[in-house]
Amino acid sequence: MDIELYHRNTSAKAIYDILINDEKFKTLNDEFIVDISFKMETSCQNACIDKALNRNIPIFWDSVFFVEQYSNILYTLMSNMDTGSDINDNNCVDDRYVVDRLYGHCVISKLFKNAIYNVDRLCETLNLIDVNKIGYYNSEKLNPYINSSYIDNIKIREKQKINEKTSIMYKCPQCKMRNTKFRKIQTASMDEGDTLFITCQVCHYEWRCYG
Ligand SMILES: [Zn+2]
Repeated sequence: MDIELYHRNTSAKAIYDILINDEKFKTLNDEFIVDISFKMETSCQNACIDKALNRNIPIFWDSVFFVEQYSNILYTLMSNMDTGSDINDNNCVDDRYVVDRLYGHCVISKLFKNAIYNVDRLCETLNLIDVNKIGYYNSEKLNPYINSSYIDNIKIREKQKINEKTSIMYKCPQCKMRNTKFRKIQTASMDEGDTLFITCQVCHYEWRCYG
């Protein structure tokens, strides 16, 4: 098998594996999912060629630069699609954002396949992800919600570290020792006051105190 076919088939198969294991996509027929996987791969390849033209990278499958760029595009796409990946593993957001918007696009284009209706415009209005353009989406565009809240989450954690203090003021309800760490979290409503998260440094018991 030649190198281009090898790369492209491997990628389409990897996309297919994510889709076929997804609870929603699984309900569509197999042939349809195969078709979508190849369309998505084609759009990644097109995006890669356009990028290569802009950066004066030679467009050959035996060029290391070209293949590396292609792999990066695929990696961005797949890590945003895969609900089990690191990028989606910050348990504070909807990790189905990309797959659901992709699914929405598939269903609508299937429904309106023979209609005169402008499907592209409908999908744009609904903010769905076009399988034929997906290769051109960066992480931010694929999933602005996850990517921004991922950063927010890191910022919050950094702040919490600074606000974490040690105190002998609080007695651990479990081991009765007075060796604790606490941090203050401001609650959303003004009249509720702050919440203290206290952790015992001896037995690691955690409890809350409402101010
Ligand atoms: Zn304790």
